[in-house]
Amino acid sequence: MTAGHPAAPAIDRADVVVVGAGILGLAVAWALGRRGCRSVLVVDRHPPATQATARAAALLTRARGDAATAALVRGTYDAIASLEEELGEDLGLRRFGTLHVAASPARVEALHALIANGTDPFEWLDGEVAARLAPCLSAEAVGHALFMPLDGFIDPVRLADAYRRSARRAGVRVQSGLSVRAVRMEHGRVAGIDTDRGFIAAPVVVNAAGAWAAGLAWTAGVGLPQAPVRSQYWITEPRPDLFPHGLPTLVMPDAGAYARPELGALLFGLRGRRSVAFDPAALPNDTGGLDLADSDGGWETLEEGWRPLARLCPPLFQAGIAHYLSGLSTYTVDGRFVLGAVPEAEGLLMATGCCGAGIAASGGIGQAVATLALGEVAPIDLSPFAPGRLGAVDPFSPALRAACAAARSGKTAG
Ligand SMILES: Cc1cc2nc3c(=O)[nH]c(=O)nc-3n(C[C@H](O)[C@H](O)[C@H](O)COP(=O)(O)OP(=O)(O)OC[C@H]3O[C@@H](n4cnc5c(N)ncnc54)[C@H](O)[C@@H]3O)c2cc1C
Repeated sequence: MTAGHPAAPAIDRADVVVVGAGILGLAVAWALGRRGCRSVLVVDRHPPATQATARAAALLTRARGDAATAALVRGTYDAIASLEEELGEDLGLRRFGTLHVAASPARVEALHALIANGTDPFEWLDGEVAARLAPCLSAEAVGHALFMPLDGFIDPVRLADAYRRSARRAGVRVQSGLSVRAVRMEHGRVAGIDTDRGFIAAPVVVNAAGAWAAGLAWTAGVGLPQAPVRSQYWITEPRPDLFPHGLPTLVMPDAGAYARPELGALLFGLRGRRSVAFDPAALPNDTGGLDLADSDGGWETLEEGWRPLARLCPPLFQAGIAHYLSGLSTYTVDGRFVLGAVPEAEGLLMATGCCGAGIAASGGIGQAVATLALGEVAPIDLSPFAPGRLGAVDPFSPALRAACAAARSGKTAG
């Protein structure tokens, strides 16, 4: 291919086209490959797993407050085990558990609600026992804690790459450098995708386009109830004396924060009172070009939030901050994913609306959406995630953006 004369796509038809080679698109491709579906094409304008997926803190938190989301997360743990066996390698899952910390009676109640529908093992701890497990916690500040011993975190790019390699072994094709302009509809059903290098025919298209998914769905006349919202975290300087190896993940809703160990340092995220949401119609193709730090000053959130966090985790007063990282998550108004079919566009399936949990739920989402793509009934009830559950929406309206940003500010799970 010479610059200025883009060649036609190497492939001009497939049974299933997946738009987006982030973790969700690759998980769907992996699950299709496992089910023996060979004619699958994943397209992305960028190399795989270089957008939101590359920036995730990648907590795989199981306590979710509703059975359907918890089942999707269990699907990811199953996927990791199956990928490790198939690929014959350790994917680096750090299974140090999660401590959900409650510093007030209201939070203890909220923690009960978080596990009401779950089936995963847990243990209630008092402040002293919690602080023995996580020595950076203040035993006095922590009232109670819920410990989920089987939780872990993982390198998100490594997990995405494992999905990709397994899919490739099963015959799935992954094409980078191809930009999708629109989902082409004919007589109310999907005909394929229009790309910057021509048309690719497919009876089923999976929209796993992350922050760009609402814009893509709109080309098929579908309004998705989601908006790109900034997520951010900080990493301290390495201080293994303060943050020892094996520290569990800490979810601290009283401080609007989470934290996990990162090579002797502490990685911590703060939700902030005001989340910043973006117009999906005005997103650049690469979020690397967005000024996420300065749009409201990521450092303002740090200034506002670090004292309540440091009260729970006093060593933060001693450790310097070494890194700041931000990226786009895709939030919905009700904090749930957007998964499955849309009645107005037969053949179009959604795998999006990640709400800051796309890594955690990727395995379950991949398996559920792949089943739908094959025309079968999903293994779990996807109705809570139905794309049309909130009625007709204008995906570009400021009111929707504000509601999605508020959903992020109020998030209390990991
Ligand atoms: C700071 C931060 C911390 C996070 N922490 C966690 C966490 O602890 N746990 C967790 O589970 N999740 C976390 N997340 C969320 C997680 O990163 C996302 O849920 C997940 O990566 C979403 O994956 P995706 O495949 O939907 O999106 P992406 O990885 O963004 O992939 C979408 C892909 O679609 C492609 N694409 C879009 N439109 C087109 C088009 N028209 N043509 C061609 N290609 C297109 C893009 O190039 C991109 O590669 C975090 C996110 C951020 C930003």
